[in-house]
This record gives sequence, structure tokens and C-alpha cells, in this order.
Amino acid sequence: MERTTCCVVGGGPAGMMLALLLARAGVAVTVLEKHGDFLRDFRGDTVHPSTLTLLDELGLGAEFAKVPHRLVQQLQVQLDSGLLPVADFRRIPGPHKHLALVPQWDFLGLLADAGRAEPTFTLRMQTKATELLTEGGAVTGVRYRSADGGSGELRADLTVACDGRRSVLRDAAGLRARSFGVPLDVWWFRLPRHDGDPTGGIARFGSGQGTVVIDRGDYFQCAYLIRKGTDATLRAEGIETFRRRVAAMIPWLGDRVEAVGDWDDVALLDVRLDRLVRWSTEGLLCLGDAAHAMSPVGGVGINLAIQDAVAAARLLAGPLRHGALTRRDLDRVQLRRWAPTALTQAMQRVIHARLLNPALTGAIPLVGAGSARPSRPIRLLQRLPLLQAIPATVVGIGLVPEHAPAFARGVSSRTTNSTTGRH
Ligand SMILES: Cc1cc2nc3c(=O)[nH]c(=O)nc-3n(C[C@H](O)[C@H](O)[C@H](O)COP(=O)(O)OP(=O)(O)OC[C@H]3O[C@@H](n4cnc5c(N)ncnc54)[C@H](O)[C@@H]3O)c2cc1C
Repeated sequence: MERTTCCVVGGGPAGMMLALLLARAGVAVTVLEKHGDFLRDFRGDTVHPSTLTLLDELGLGAEFAKVPHRLVQQLQVQLDSGLLPVADFRRIPGPHKHLALVPQWDFLGLLADAGRAEPTFTLRMQTKATELLTEGGAVTGVRYRSADGGSGELRADLTVACDGRRSVLRDAAGLRARSFGVPLDVWWFRLPRHDGDPTGGIARFGSGQGTVVIDRGDYFQCAYLIRKGTDATLRAEGIETFRRRVAAMIPWLGDRVEAVGDWDDVALLDVRLDRLVRWSTEGLLCLGDAAHAMSPVGGVGINLAIQDAVAAARLLAGPLRHGALTRRDLDRVQLRRWAPTALTQAMQRVIHARLLNPALTGAIPLVGAGSARPSRPIRLLQRLPLLQAIPATVVGIGLVPEHAPAFARGVSSRTTNSTTGRH
């Protein structure tokens, strides 16, 4: 029978960060990841200022600096008359005053390499958890299927479901989620970026549409917001109609919309917003998207997933090391992370209701088009630019940032800057 102290299911941001930190505490930890690599197109690629600080604390800042990345210092809204800043990361507290955009596979690869340096860390790729093992009502591990099609059982003192927003483990455990309706789905696609194009992130909403473009260096990662459930209807209108809509919203992209060749270049994200009522049951804890699927509003899902992992590692490493884990320890993790999660989701729901839903139903005109004036909040942010620190702080740092526990800190933690690599 295979056994470990902590079995982490899912090698995404939450799972990899948790496993690294627990391994640094000397806890035997095994990560099961169903894919053979971390390569996935259109995943969240944002590394937030709070995560950059965490990487410094873990002594990984210099390694991260070697990974090619793009910095975003400002988020702006597009009007007919030009661009207006609404969030300014240069005004936020802390050493890192930008988002870093890094392919998620590079970021996860970095965590995996750091984990492999620890003797108690094991990462098993192409290994899919298929079922929970239980004894007397308590979860005691998982049954899994490996690359060769064989199956096995891994028993653990604690199983952590970090298997994302379609978590099979949370369903298998019968954990109940509260779902919040969302008005939108998202189409992801890419457009080339030319020298001299705007930098950072740019958004425009209204007249039944919404577009967000993120500067990724030689291309823009683009999100086109559609009303929930309208994917098939809109695709039936043809790719040319879609190209025209994008060009009408962000006119300076009009010269390159042909780069979207056909619908295969446009990926649908089925947006969900939910939260487990209880994040744990005896022997099982859910973290990250498995505990709370986030809306893409604000691009905060990765930050919350990582912060869950850091809090869990800090609260659980001791009890796991001493074989003394109790149900209360698991409850403490939810207690610590519930408020920032619920508040962030509440903010996302307000933005859905006040901005995105009216924009997507056509109830508000295209922001700043022709005679339409920018909305009052946007005007206020222009009059008092200091206020641009508020949205930037919520996105970049989060409501309850988490710092590396002492047992996980790296030697160069206080002296390495993760985006410059300078000591
Ligand atoms: C298209 C897209 C764009 C996004 N953009 C952003 C963004 O810009 N900024 C942002 O902050 N967030 C973004 N998000 C959200 C963000 O990606 C998630 O909130 C974040 O990745 C959650 O991390 P996680 O570790 O909880 O789960 P995930 O990242 O979903 O990781 C789950 C992992 O578990 C593995 N897995 C699943 N089931 C099993 C199983 N049975 N056995 C073994 N392994 C399993 C999966 O392969 C995956 O690697 C985006 C999401 C999507 C889909």
C-alpha cells in the first residue's frame, strides 16, 4: 500500500505552492497531476505583486527573474477619445509595483523545480485521482489512474483537493457549493501586438459587448465577453461579424483582426462563481478554485489560490509533521481565507450587476463612445488619481495577503528582487 502524509490532487497554482511549502516544512507530500505537463493555452498567466513578494520570501525571486515576463503597471479603459487609466499598480504598497505576466507553465515549472529540491516532495504527472478512499466516514486518500492505464491507491493523513473549478473530489465528498449566477462567458483569442501599441491592460464595455486586451509583448491576450449561454448563437453569426465587433470596440486593433482565422482560434471559458459552504470534511480539504471558483473579473483567481495554499501550509505543517491533525485545524484554514474570498466574490458580483450585465444586455452605451461620457467612477479616478491605487491593491495584493511561513523562507528571501533579480 502506498502512503504519504499529505496527498495533493492537482498541480495548479494552489497545489504546487502548498506542496512546496509543506515539503520545506519536512512533511512528506505527493502531488498527483492528471496532465503530462503544465502546458495549457489560455490559463491565468498573472503573477500578482503579492506573489512576487512571496517568491522573494521563498528565495525564488532570482529564478523567477530569469523567466521571460512582461510587466503591467496600469489598467486603462478605452474611449473614442483615447485611453484613461483606472488602476495604477505603481501606487500600491510593497516592493513590487506591477503584475508580471508569465506563461503559467513556466511559473508552475519553477515551483516544481523548487519542490524537487526537497527530499519529502514527490510530483507524479499523468496521474489522475479518480475516487476518494474512505474509512468510517473519513477520507483516507485517493484511488488514481496512471499514465500506463494502471490504477493504484495512495493513502494519506490529509488529502487536499486542488483540482480546480470542476473538482471531482469535492463532489465525491458531498461538499455543498453555493453558486452565484453570472451574466457572462468569455471568448479568449490572440491578436498581434505592434511596436508603439498601448501597454498594460485595456478594457471597453457597452452596447452589448465587452473586450479586455492584455499586453503580452508580441501579442495581445484578448478576452471578449459574451452573455452567458450565447456562445453557439454568436458563433453562428460568423467570424467576420465577430472581427467587426472587436474592431468597432477597439478601433486601433481593426488592422489585425484578420489574425483570428476561424472559430478554432477562439476558446470559450464557461464562467462560474461559487463557494463551498464547508471547505473540508474529515481527512479532506479543498483549496483554490476547488473551494471557490472565481469570475475572471479582476484576474484574481490565481492570487486567491496561492494565498489559500500559503495559509494552509502555515496552519497545517505543524500538525501534519507531528501526526496530530484535527478537524479544527482544517476549519482554521477556512476561517482564515473565507472573508477575503467572500468579499472578493461580493465585489465581483457587484461589478457583474452594475457594469457587465448592463453592458452585455445593451442597457448602457459603449463606454466613452461619441457623446457618451465616461461613467462617474471613471471620472472620479481621473480627478483623484491617488484613488487608482484602490483597484490596483485589490487586484494585485488582495484583501488578506499571506506571507511565507518561517520554515519555508529561502536564504535570499530578503535581498532578491523577483522582477529585476538584483540583490
Ligand atoms: C482561460 C482562463 C483564464 C484565466 N485568467 C486568469 C488571470 O488572468 N488571472 C487570474 O488570477 N486568474 C485567471 N484565471 C483563473 C485561474 O486560472 C484560477 O483561479 C487558478 O488557476 C486556480 O488555481 P487552482 O490551483 O485552484 O486550480 P487550477 O489552476 O484549475 O489547477 C487545477 C489542476 O488540477 C489538475 N486536476 C484536475 N483534476 C484532477 C484529477 N482528478 N487528478 C489530478 N489532477 C487533476 C488540473 O490538470 C490542473 O492542473 C483564468 C482561468 C481560465 C480558465
